[in-house]
Amino acid sequence: MAGGKVNNLMLIRTTKGEKGKEGKKYVVKGLRGWLNHAMMALAKEMGVEVCHTSEKTESQKGEPLLPEGFHAAGKCLENGEECIKHRLMGSFGKQSKLKFEPVVITSKACKGKEDEEIQQMHIATEVRNALAFHTKKAIQDFGERYFAGTFTLRIEFRTKLEAEELGFLLKSLLYAPEIGLGAAVNNGAGKMKILKVALQEVVRERTFDQKGRVVERERVRNLWKEMQEGLKAWPKKVSA
Ligand SMILES: [Zn+2]
Repeated sequence: MAGGKVNNLMLIRTTKGEKGKEGKKYVVKGLRGWLNHAMMALAKEMGVEVCHTSEKTESQKGEPLLPEGFHAAGKCLENGEECIKHRLMGSFGKQSKLKFEPVVITSKACKGKEDEEIQQMHIATEVRNALAFHTKKAIQDFGERYFAGTFTLRIEFRTKLEAEELGFLLKSLLYAPEIGLGAAVNNGAGKMKILKVALQEVVRERTFDQKGRVVERERVRNLWKEMQEGLKAWPKKVSA
Protein backbone atom coordinates (compact mmCIF):
# COMPACT_ATOMS: atom_id res chain seq x y z
CA MET A 1 0.00 0.00 0.00
CA ALA A 2 1.36 3.41 -0.77
CA GLY A 3 0.55 7.03 -0.36
CA GLY A 4 -1.07 9.23 2.17
CA LYS A 5 -1.15 12.73 3.49
CA VAL A 6 -0.76 14.47 6.80
CA ASN A 7 -4.45 13.91 7.55
CA ASN A 8 -3.86 10.19 7.58
CA LEU A 9 -0.93 10.24 9.96
CA MET A 10 -1.21 10.86 13.64
CA LEU A 11 1.96 11.34 15.66
CA ILE A 12 1.88 9.07 18.66
CA ARG A 13 5.30 9.29 20.16
CA THR A 14 8.78 10.59 19.70
CA THR A 15 11.53 8.48 21.11
CA LYS A 16 14.59 10.20 22.37
CA GLY A 17 17.84 8.37 22.21
CA GLU A 18 21.29 8.30 20.73
CA LYS A 19 21.79 10.32 17.61
CA GLY A 20 20.24 8.60 14.62
CA LYS A 21 18.09 6.42 16.81
CA GLU A 22 15.47 8.93 17.75
CA GLY A 23 12.34 8.90 15.70
CA LYS A 24 8.72 9.74 15.45
CA LYS A 25 6.08 7.11 15.34
CA TYR A 26 2.78 7.56 13.60
CA VAL A 27 -0.50 5.76 13.42
CA VAL A 28 -1.99 5.47 9.95
CA LYS A 29 -5.52 6.76 10.26
CA GLY A 30 -8.52 6.32 8.03
CA LEU A 31 -8.15 2.66 7.11
CA ARG A 32 -11.53 1.63 8.51
CA GLY A 33 -13.18 4.54 6.69
CA TRP A 34 -11.38 3.54 3.53
CA LEU A 35 -12.84 0.03 3.70
CA ASN A 36 -16.23 1.48 4.64
CA HIS A 37 -16.29 3.53 1.47
CA ALA A 38 -15.12 0.60 -0.63
CA MET A 39 -18.00 -1.48 0.78
CA MET A 40 -20.47 1.26 -0.08
CA ALA A 41 -19.17 1.69 -3.62
CA LEU A 42 -19.05 -2.04 -4.28
CA ALA A 43 -22.54 -2.70 -2.91
CA LYS A 44 -23.94 0.13 -5.00
CA GLU A 45 -22.31 -1.28 -8.10
CA MET A 46 -23.83 -4.68 -7.39
CA GLY A 47 -27.24 -3.18 -6.67
CA VAL A 48 -27.24 -4.22 -3.01
CA GLU A 49 -28.59 -1.71 -0.50
CA VAL A 50 -26.34 -1.14 2.52
CA CYS A 51 -25.87 1.36 5.33
CA HIS A 52 -24.49 4.78 4.46
CA THR A 53 -21.94 6.26 6.86
CA SER A 54 -24.45 8.98 7.69
CA GLU A 55 -27.13 8.46 10.31
CA LYS A 56 -29.29 11.28 9.04
CA THR A 57 -31.68 10.82 6.17
CA GLU A 58 -32.52 14.46 5.60
CA SER A 59 -31.29 17.91 6.46
CA GLN A 60 -33.17 20.21 8.82
CA LYS A 61 -34.78 21.75 5.76
CA GLY A 62 -36.08 18.33 4.74
CA GLU A 63 -33.70 17.86 1.82
CA PRO A 64 -32.66 14.24 1.35
CA LEU A 65 -29.06 13.59 2.34
CA LEU A 66 -28.65 9.98 1.38
CA PRO A 67 -27.77 8.99 -2.15
CA GLU A 68 -30.02 6.42 -3.80
CA GLY A 69 -29.27 2.83 -2.85
CA PHE A 70 -28.38 3.51 0.79
CA HIS A 71 -30.18 3.66 4.12
CA ALA A 72 -29.08 5.57 7.21
CA ALA A 73 -26.43 3.86 9.34
CA GLY A 74 -28.07 1.30 11.60
CA LYS A 75 -31.57 1.77 10.17
CA CYS A 76 -31.60 -1.78 8.77
CA LEU A 77 -31.08 -3.25 12.24
CA GLU A 78 -34.09 -1.33 13.57
CA ASN A 79 -36.16 -2.69 10.70
CA GLY A 80 -35.05 -6.24 11.41
CA GLU A 81 -33.36 -6.61 8.01
CA GLU A 82 -29.73 -6.11 8.84
CA CYS A 83 -27.69 -5.46 5.70
CA ILE A 84 -24.40 -7.19 4.91
CA LYS A 85 -22.33 -4.10 5.70
CA HIS A 86 -23.96 -3.59 9.08
CA ARG A 87 -23.36 -7.24 9.96
CA LEU A 88 -19.65 -6.57 9.50
CA MET A 89 -19.13 -2.94 10.41
CA GLY A 90 -21.93 -2.30 12.91
CA SER A 91 -22.97 1.20 13.93
CA PHE A 92 -23.42 3.11 17.17
CA GLY A 93 -26.02 0.57 18.26
CA LYS A 94 -23.94 -2.53 17.59
CA GLN A 95 -20.27 -3.37 17.71
CA SER A 96 -18.41 -4.22 14.53
CA LYS A 97 -17.31 -7.81 13.93
CA LEU A 98 -14.03 -6.45 12.61
CA LYS A 99 -11.30 -5.15 14.83
CA PHE A 100 -8.67 -3.09 13.02
CA GLU A 101 -5.31 -3.31 14.71
CA PRO A 102 -3.45 0.01 14.69
CA VAL A 103 -0.84 0.35 11.98
CA VAL A 104 2.15 2.05 13.58
CA ILE A 105 4.85 3.28 11.25
CA THR A 106 8.17 5.02 11.61
CA SER A 107 10.53 6.57 9.10
CA LYS A 108 13.02 4.32 7.39
CA ALA A 109 15.58 7.06 8.01
CA CYS A 110 15.34 6.41 11.71
CA LYS A 111 17.61 3.51 12.48
CA GLY A 112 15.82 2.32 15.52
CA LYS A 113 15.66 -1.22 16.70
CA GLU A 114 13.53 -3.35 14.39
CA ASP A 115 10.28 -3.97 16.08
CA GLU A 116 7.62 -6.25 14.70
CA GLU A 117 4.88 -3.94 15.96
CA ILE A 118 6.32 -0.96 14.14
CA GLN A 119 6.57 -0.98 10.37
CA GLN A 120 9.11 1.13 8.55
CA MET A 121 8.05 3.34 5.65
CA HIS A 122 9.25 6.43 3.84
CA ILE A 123 7.91 9.54 5.49
CA ALA A 124 8.64 12.97 4.08
CA THR A 125 7.50 16.45 4.96
CA GLU A 126 7.06 18.98 2.23
CA VAL A 127 6.95 22.55 3.46
CA ARG A 128 5.01 24.94 1.30
CA ASN A 129 4.14 28.58 1.55
CA ALA A 130 0.99 30.20 0.34
CA LEU A 131 1.78 33.69 -0.85
CA ALA A 132 -0.59 36.61 -0.93
CA PHE A 133 -1.15 37.52 -4.57
CA HIS A 134 -0.18 41.21 -4.47
CA THR A 135 2.39 41.48 -1.73
CA LYS A 136 3.99 38.04 -2.11
CA LYS A 137 4.07 37.90 1.64
CA ALA A 138 3.59 34.51 3.15
CA ILE A 139 0.10 34.19 4.48
CA GLN A 140 0.20 30.59 5.48
CA ASP A 141 2.87 28.01 6.06
CA PHE A 142 1.90 24.45 5.90
CA GLY A 143 3.81 21.26 5.92
CA GLU A 144 2.37 18.18 4.34
CA ARG A 145 3.56 14.83 5.44
CA TYR A 146 3.65 12.00 2.97
CA PHE A 147 4.29 8.38 3.55
CA ALA A 148 5.03 5.67 1.06
CA GLY A 149 5.91 2.03 1.16
CA THR A 150 4.25 -1.18 2.15
CA PHE A 151 2.58 -2.02 5.40
CA THR A 152 0.51 -4.81 6.85
CA LEU A 153 -2.97 -4.18 8.14
CA ARG A 154 -4.37 -6.80 10.48
CA ILE A 155 -8.10 -7.15 10.87
CA GLU A 156 -9.20 -9.46 13.64
CA PHE A 157 -12.63 -11.09 13.59
CA ARG A 158 -14.43 -10.77 16.92
CA THR A 159 -16.76 -13.58 15.95
CA LYS A 160 -16.78 -16.09 13.15
CA LEU A 161 -17.92 -14.65 9.83
CA GLU A 162 -20.53 -16.29 7.64
CA ALA A 163 -19.23 -17.22 4.17
CA GLU A 164 -21.32 -14.41 2.69
CA GLU A 165 -19.86 -11.84 5.10
CA LEU A 166 -16.35 -13.03 4.37
CA GLY A 167 -17.01 -12.77 0.65
CA PHE A 168 -18.29 -9.20 0.97
CA LEU A 169 -15.25 -8.27 3.05
CA LEU A 170 -12.76 -9.83 0.62
CA LYS A 171 -14.42 -8.31 -2.43
CA SER A 172 -14.52 -4.91 -0.73
CA LEU A 173 -10.79 -5.19 0.01
CA LEU A 174 -10.14 -6.03 -3.64
CA TYR A 175 -12.27 -3.05 -4.64
CA ALA A 176 -10.65 -0.63 -2.18
CA PRO A 177 -7.70 0.44 -4.40
CA GLU A 178 -10.30 2.15 -6.60
CA ILE A 179 -10.78 4.48 -3.65
CA GLY A 180 -7.79 6.47 -2.48
CA LEU A 181 -6.90 7.08 1.13
CA GLY A 182 -7.45 10.49 2.59
CA ALA A 183 -8.26 13.95 1.41
CA ALA A 184 -5.48 14.39 -1.14
CA VAL A 185 -6.86 11.86 -3.62
CA ASN A 186 -7.77 14.59 -6.10
CA ASN A 187 -4.17 15.74 -6.15
CA GLY A 188 -2.96 12.29 -7.07
CA ALA A 189 -1.91 11.29 -3.57
CA GLY A 190 -3.38 8.56 -1.41
CA LYS A 191 -2.87 5.82 -3.98
CA MET A 192 -3.35 2.43 -2.43
CA LYS A 193 -2.57 -0.97 -3.83
CA ILE A 194 -3.28 -4.27 -2.14
CA LEU A 195 -0.48 -6.73 -2.67
CA LYS A 196 -1.59 -9.73 -0.69
CA VAL A 197 -4.60 -10.84 1.32
CA ALA A 198 -4.42 -13.77 3.68
CA LEU A 199 -7.08 -15.33 5.84
CA GLN A 200 -5.52 -17.07 8.80
CA GLU A 201 -6.56 -18.88 11.89
CA VAL A 202 -4.19 -17.89 14.66
CA VAL A 203 -3.97 -19.88 17.86
CA ARG A 204 -1.93 -18.28 20.62
CA GLU A 205 -0.49 -20.34 23.41
CA ARG A 206 1.42 -19.21 26.45
CA THR A 207 3.51 -21.57 28.52
CA PHE A 208 6.52 -21.37 30.85
CA ASP A 209 10.01 -22.50 30.06
CA GLN A 210 12.25 -24.18 32.64
CA LYS A 211 13.25 -20.83 34.09
CA GLY A 212 9.67 -19.72 34.49
CA ARG A 213 9.79 -17.27 31.62
CA VAL A 214 6.58 -16.90 29.67
CA VAL A 215 6.91 -18.26 26.17
CA GLU A 216 4.34 -17.24 23.62
CA ARG A 217 3.67 -19.44 20.66
CA GLU A 218 1.49 -18.76 17.67
CA ARG A 219 0.13 -21.41 15.40
CA VAL A 220 -1.03 -20.04 12.08
CA ARG A 221 -3.14 -21.87 9.53
CA ASN A 222 -4.02 -20.40 6.14
CA LEU A 223 -7.66 -20.72 5.22
CA TRP A 224 -7.53 -20.68 1.41
CA LYS A 225 -10.58 -22.90 0.97
CA GLU A 226 -12.70 -20.63 3.18
CA MET A 227 -11.58 -17.63 1.13
CA GLN A 228 -12.68 -19.27 -2.11
CA GLU A 229 -16.02 -20.27 -0.60
CA GLY A 230 -16.54 -16.73 0.67
CA LEU A 231 -15.89 -15.21 -2.73
CA LYS A 232 -18.56 -17.49 -4.20
CA ALA A 233 -21.07 -16.75 -1.45
CA TRP A 234 -21.44 -12.99 -2.04
CA PRO A 235 -23.35 -11.52 -3.78
CA LYS A 236 -26.09 -14.09 -3.54
CA LYS A 237 -27.38 -15.09 -6.94
CA VAL A 238 -30.93 -13.90 -7.39
CA SER A 239 -32.91 -16.26 -9.56
CA ALA A 240 -34.93 -14.51 -12.21
ZN1 LIG B 1 -27.59 -1.38 6.89
